Amino acid sequence: MVAGAMANMPCVVVREHGGFDRLRLEERPVPVPAPGQVRVRVQAIGLNHLDTWVRRGVPGHTFPLPLIPSSDACGVVDALGPGVTGCKAGDPVVVLPGVSCGACEACQSGVDQLCRDYHILGESCDGTSAAFVCVPAANIAAKPRALSAPEAASICLVFQTAWNMLVRRAELRAGETVLVHAGLSGVGSAAVQIANVLGAQVIATAGGPEKCAQVKALGAHHVIDYRAADFVAEVRSLTGRAGVHVVFEHVGEATFTGSMKCLQRGGRLVTCGATTGGNVPLSLHAVFFKSLSILGSTMGSKGDLRTILRLFDQGRLRTVLARELPMAQVGEAHRLLEAREALGKVVLLP
Ligand SMILES: [Zn+2]
Repeated sequence: MVAGAMANMPCVVVREHGGFDRLRLEERPVPVPAPGQVRVRVQAIGLNHLDTWVRRGVPGHTFPLPLIPSSDACGVVDALGPGVTGCKAGDPVVVLPGVSCGACEACQSGVDQLCRDYHILGESCDGTSAAFVCVPAANIAAKPRALSAPEAASICLVFQTAWNMLVRRAELRAGETVLVHAGLSGVGSAAVQIANVLGAQVIATAGGPEKCAQVKALGAHHVIDYRAADFVAEVRSLTGRAGVHVVFEHVGEATFTGSMKCLQRGGRLVTCGATTGGNVPLSLHAVFFKSLSILGSTMGSKGDLRTILRLFDQGRLRTVLARELPMAQVGEAHRLLEAREALGKVVLLP
């Protein structure tokens, strides 16, 4: 389509933090791609827990409101800004959620997520909850062919996060054992599958028999129903009291102390989040006596994301879709995420 000056598009806008009613549906002019940018006509928007933090607000953190939320999308290239080559209108693409300068040492070293000018779409700049989005040409990649638009819109944020945690930070290896918390969550379901691709033994947790069965189907070797059993005791039993080599943490206060107890000597805990709170007690004695590592991780590199998309093309990874809702029902989508009712990813259709 050619965007006339008067053409408008629907989008979601957060103007102030608060409840579901803060997710306003608004009309904005269709954005015009700047030099080096590509405009994508959005077909599906993948939601993440980050969306709910942007809406609710985070104490001590300032979001640049008003903001169009959401980090993930799949669509087709719609228009090219001046100077863009390498793609054409009509190409099916996924949007890569991390925007960086492309010129600094971090960017050129392949760790663009450490760029000092790094932005996550929908967090520190306008995101993908809109009918059209303009992003740098570096931020699109071919859609994996076999996937539907909603499936492809559910990959990037969680898979690049889980990949960076397991591959780059914890350096999980074949034959090692990893404990993955909340194996049906966005990052958890990615971690279970990535650990499997790497050849590791996967112990995962999930709440309730239905979620446990789904995590097992994703390739976890053992699944612990954390509502029915103490995960620390279960991990000890499953590993012959040795503990695991790696714990994949994103839960925070509710699980951290137990996670540390699950590590064997020389073990690594890697964390990307603290959905239940981030202030945890830590025994330095345990850290040094057992030679433990605690590793932080945020997002991942665009290069690794292209590897991940290739694994999707090869059919070795998959997304777990729970619900597709029209964009006008974004409030209900947030409710499903916060109530942890959705068994998998929630997608909006613009
Ligand atoms: Zn940079």
